[in-house]
Amino acid sequence: MNPTTTAIDDHRVVTVRGLTKSYGGRVAVDRLDLDVSAGEVVGLIGANGAGKTTAVECVQGLRRPDAGTVRVLGLDPVRDADRLRPLVGSQLQSSSLPDRLRVGEAVALFSTRRARDADGLLERFGLAGKLRSAFGTMSGGEQQRLFLVLALLNQPRLVILDELTQGLDPAARREVWSSVAQLRDAGTTVLLVTHELDEAEVLCDRVVALRAGQVLDAGTPAELVTRHGGVVTTRFGTTSDPAGVVHAVDDLTGVHHVEVGADGQVTVRGDRSSIAHVGAWLVGRGSIPADLRVDVPDLETALLRLLDGPEPLPTIPAPTGVLR
Ligand code: ATP
Repeated sequence: MNPTTTAIDDHRVVTVRGLTKSYGGRVAVDRLDLDVSAGEVVGLIGANGAGKTTAVECVQGLRRPDAGTVRVLGLDPVRDADRLRPLVGSQLQSSSLPDRLRVGEAVALFSTRRARDADGLLERFGLAGKLRSAFGTMSGGEQQRLFLVLALLNQPRLVILDELTQGLDPAARREVWSSVAQLRDAGTTVLLVTHELDEAEVLCDRVVALRAGQVLDAGTPAELVTRHGGVVTTRFGTTSDPAGVVHAVDDLTGVHHVEVGADGQVTVRGDRSSIAHVGAWLVGRGSIPADLRVDVPDLETALLRLLDGPEPLPTIPAPTGVLR
């Protein structure tokens, strides 16, 4: 190997620091930091125009950042494009194939020397019987599963999926989700771009939430739910004196608010720890209400609250002409 050639870093698959990209003075991505480690499924989420596609285009070396650094497997996606091309598999938002191209022909066309077990992949994604089907005659779900097969064909170290389920009906979305879940379970590293919050919830190990080019927050689904999900609600019925129940429960750790309705239904709002403290209080009283139930916010709720929250502060456009 040429001693000056940068070694491939198999562990830190994507490392982005301070990525900024503007179009004509309008900032599309603003000081983005992003890490994807081997085997993770990381979701870039945000509304239309948040800067997700621009960010992944920089990761793929299709756009040159105005500022900041991008490394994929330790390499520069623009400078080392030739080395990275066989290592990164993508399904882009704009992916399309000629209508008359058959599945078998598409697989042959996309196969490189690294291609392995196309038949196994087609089988895995339910397309084994479709070798002679023309792209234009396939359902939306089948077409997206074919793009997954093509993205995986050459054994990439990183797979980039941009708006994979856009325009699909609910059944086809679930079909494609289960294919991505298979990838995740097999340890494939995936950078997933979506504005579908339920998709992020089902598929991602970590999520980076973008708005107007800025990171609002990033973390595991559990971390984001804790930070942005809002309160946990515990409900149960009681026949005890309402004032006494309110007094006792209000004192418990983690409880923010408690009320008893005219029907004897107790509603307790608090943080996650309130679940344990209310439970322990009920156990201490020697009676577990048969109608006890707890509502814990999910990632979709947390992301909705985060993305619909107050606007980030306006930023000064990045200076142009700082291409590295
Ligand atoms: P979507 O979910 O709609 O694909 P996104 O989050 O991927 O949106 P981008 O496509 O990266 O966002 O766009 C971010 C901003 O940059 C938007 O305001 C968009 O209009 C603008 N933009 C994107 N591409 C270009 C371009 N080639 N020229 C000028 N402006 C662009």
